[in-house]
Amino acid sequence: MRNDIVMVDLNGQYQNLKKKIDSAIDIVIQSGKFINGPEVELFSKELARWIGVKHVIPCANGTDALQLAIMALQLKVGDEVLVPSFSYVATVEVIVLLGLKPVFVDVNPHTFTIDVVDLRNKITEKSKLIIPVHLFGQCANMEIICKIAQKYQLKIVEDTAQAIGACYRFSNGETINAGAIGDFGTTSFFPSKNLGCFGDGGALLTNSDDLAIMAKMMANHGQKVKYHHDVIGCNSRLDTIQAAILRVKLQYLREFTAKRKRVAMYYRKELNNVKGLAVPNVSRNSTHVYNQFTLKIDLSDRYGIQNIRDRVQTELRKRGIPTMIYYPLPIHLQKAYCSQDFPHGSLPMTERLSESVLSIPIHTEMTDDEMEYITESIKEVMKRILVHVSLTTKKTECKEIILSTNQQ
Ligand SMILES: *Cc1c(COP(=O)(O)O)cnc(C)c1O
Repeated sequence: MRNDIVMVDLNGQYQNLKKKIDSAIDIVIQSGKFINGPEVELFSKELARWIGVKHVIPCANGTDALQLAIMALQLKVGDEVLVPSFSYVATVEVIVLLGLKPVFVDVNPHTFTIDVVDLRNKITEKSKLIIPVHLFGQCANMEIICKIAQKYQLKIVEDTAQAIGACYRFSNGETINAGAIGDFGTTSFFPSKNLGCFGDGGALLTNSDDLAIMAKMMANHGQKVKYHHDVIGCNSRLDTIQAAILRVKLQYLREFTAKRKRVAMYYRKELNNVKGLAVPNVSRNSTHVYNQFTLKIDLSDRYGIQNIRDRVQTELRKRGIPTMIYYPLPIHLQKAYCSQDFPHGSLPMTERLSESVLSIPIHTEMTDDEMEYITESIKEVMKRILVHVSLTTKKTECKEIILSTNQQ
């Protein structure tokens, strides 16, 4: 069995940049400026220029970036935040930690991003903020989200942890990078993100001078002048070593994205017509940077769609192909976050996706051979499962084999 296929090949990417990265790290170590060394400011400036946003405020991780954004917007206890439940828990965690109320919005089953119809329906007097998540590397429907925000005077914080480098085209022709559209964008440099460092890191993006000052202050114990604390803040910094690594990697971000796209295009071509599977949609107005390539299982037997997905995963694992489920349980159904307001069944698309999504390996170092092996294996596995399902279905006289709702 093959054992060379991985979800993300961090080591392979490092080996290709080893000289430059090692020397960047060495310079920091020699300088001794581990906290707020010159690389932190340089990286922030370079990233701001790269994205096309006025300010980048570095911080310790993507979760802190979200928390700092909400703190800087000075929302009040009890304010409502509209947020998808189909996301990584961090997006919602910070809302609750700050005493605000998450109002869960369903997602569009084709793009996996926040459903704008449900979004509008869930606005109340108390709504103050929308946090669209650019899930898996593709922008949410920012045109409509901006219109809604404007009409109801809501703030926008774009969770761009998975979508750095994606861009959104508005109907007036204007194209803006993910994270530079809302009041804030937040991102993460967790190693497996598209721009990853060698530990934790994150940043806030904003075009507002006032919000930039506020966020910087919040991340630095609420002080502008040392030892003078104007507001209650926290301590959230990007290490100098991480900034030095990110400066090197930022030079390759365009190339990294192109490499991910190449894999995605191949997958799309090869898997587009495989029965029982749906490849991810690309929306008209956004580019996709493929932090994940996420399939949907479009086939069920009498034990349900999850049973088929388990079998696909098991069969692929046997062939040496790892897969992941992002995310197996929506946030509104998690023990820590469940409430009477959002019972089982209240977000049908979200719940359905949690049962049917399956992410397959995609990264910057993937070889043609790996790509071919993965797609051929998936085709073979699906064929076998389809035969099995139709046989067992005949036996139990279950009528519904292919669930058409998931097709597009
Ligand atoms: C990774 C991620 C975060 C959190 O980033 P960390 O750096 O791990 O704190 C937040 N939101 C989304 C959507 C993410 O994927």
